[in-house]
Amino acid sequence: MAVLNSPKTSYNPETLLKKLAAEYPDVILKPGKVFLWSPKQHVVSYIPDQLTSDKGSWSLLHEVSHAILGHRDYRNDFELLQLEVAAWEEALAVGERLSIKIDQNFIEDCLDTYRDWLHQRSTCPTCGSSGLQHDPKTYRCHNCLTIWHVSQSRFCRPYRKKLHTSVTKEKSPDQNDQTIFN
Ligand SMILES: [Zn+2]
Ligand SMILES: [Zn+2]
Repeated sequence: MAVLNSPKTSYNPETLLKKLAAEYPDVILKPGKVFLWSPKQHVVSYIPDQLTSDKGSWSLLHEVSHAILGHRDYRNDFELLQLEVAAWEEALAVGERLSIKIDQNFIEDCLDTYRDWLHQRSTCPTCGSSGLQHDPKTYRCHNCLTIWHVSQSRFCRPYRKKLHTSVTKEKSPDQNDQTIFN
């Protein structure tokens, strides 16, 4: 028996790109190797091959939402998490306009990645307490007063470096000085 009125979750990629371009003419969409929003270049990049999948089209809506909301920068890790939450809320609204239903579990999985990352970065490497972020690269433990540095790149290994130790700073391949949103 055919299921009627089931929410449409897949789109023809070309239709999706056309509809987005028509609804949001200010947002520039460019094929690329990752899904991201670059405020500096004012471009949303997407992986063309993945647009045939639900997750790919949801990721595109998410990046477009960062662009719609004009996300440019964040002062600390928690603020980044808040911007991610806001972008998913906007993506749900954009999806509704285009009749795309985004799976809430997918959203929670994505946000969990940020929550885990935030938790690992903010945990004191000495005593395990939760630290406070002092600036984009520095956390401080109120319990044992350890200060540690975190990399600015978001999804490289959550690596922490205590101050005054001579660890060579590693760079992840995707690390650069530009603020981007995934
Ligand atoms: Zn501590
Ligand atoms: Zn994002």
